[in-house]
Amino acid sequence: MKISDVKVIRFRTHADRWDIGHARLKKNAKVIQTVTCIETDEGLTGYFFGGGKHGDQDGMTPDEQRLIEGQVRSMILGADPFDRELIWKWMWVRNIPEVAQSVIDCALWDLAARHAGLPVYKLMGGARDKVPAYASTYPNIGQPEVYAEHALACKAEGYQAYKIHPHYFWNPDTGLPTNGRPSNIRADIETINLVREAVGPDMVLMYDVWGTYHTFEETVKVGRELERLDFYWYEHPMPEYRVETYRRLCRELSIPILAPEIAAGGVFTRAEWILQGASDMSRMDIRRGGITGCRKTAIVCEAYGQRCEVHMAGWGNLQVMGATHEDTSEWYEKGLLAPGVDYDAPHPYLKRNCDPMDAEGYVALPQVPGMGYEPIWDYIEDNRVAA
Ligand SMILES: [Mg+2]
Repeated sequence: MKISDVKVIRFRTHADRWDIGHARLKKNAKVIQTVTCIETDEGLTGYFFGGGKHGDQDGMTPDEQRLIEGQVRSMILGADPFDRELIWKWMWVRNIPEVAQSVIDCALWDLAARHAGLPVYKLMGGARDKVPAYASTYPNIGQPEVYAEHALACKAEGYQAYKIHPHYFWNPDTGLPTNGRPSNIRADIETINLVREAVGPDMVLMYDVWGTYHTFEETVKVGRELERLDFYWYEHPMPEYRVETYRRLCRELSIPILAPEIAAGGVFTRAEWILQGASDMSRMDIRRGGITGCRKTAIVCEAYGQRCEVHMAGWGNLQVMGATHEDTSEWYEKGLLAPGVDYDAPHPYLKRNCDPMDAEGYVALPQVPGMGYEPIWDYIEDNRVAA
């Protein structure tokens, strides 16, 4: 079998989103989604939806689409679509941007699993059929008490765990942007206290600053409070280009530091951080080298006895988790969520959403062959837009 074409279909759809700059609901916001299609000379096609932003609920940029339909397409035309390792290597050595190489790798996994008649995680080697989910908030969902109310509502829905993205680039007291000083640790400390008080001692709580604490001192001050309140992990608190500061932070605090989250370099960077002792738990997702790169990272972490907590929601991340034991990758990030955002509203272009949660707080792995997509092609065709 040979790859005969690579196409990206760009289409308009809608979903609820949260406007993090103004802390307000965007009901039924316009969303541009992309589906990348890798076609073969034997009529089999592999698909990947997404590539943009958080999870795979948004499409690639027009520039990324042109890269895939241009340089990447000419590189892989005629290749055997089952040679995922070879194609993965080609894309790294050509310095193809991580998002583009990830989209191709994921579509190749979808293709191979469809050919095998198995879900992707079963083709990799299944480890479990369901994963525990945590409710992951948008940043800036409101004043500290809004987080406490929201955490309680999530607990009532069945979530066993809740992760706070606190206030950044936005001052909760004034409702105004704060570009020069992105953090607001007084409100953040009030938030983590109110949330723990609201949900009680048993709910698992996580905290993710997205690199917006720019001094070691404020990072430690909030970290000590997280330790006192028995939070489970402290994610990406500082910018990730200062690795030595992370080494100091891991020595200073007992709460596990979860990083790197967004550092470039995929599995290679994660392996380096483990060697440097710069984090206690590693972080990876399929946007940083595809399912192949994410799975490799989980295996490196397993070998070193370090957790590899998978970043973001979405089909590919869920499939990697299905192929990884919970001792290595435990929690599925469901979201992002905010009051009024109907995350579970059906996507009009798919027959079934990726991650409905059961009453015990688990998300089941899709059981159809491939990534799990059942596209509604009429909707996609009717809503096509140009790049
Ligand atoms: Mg995060």
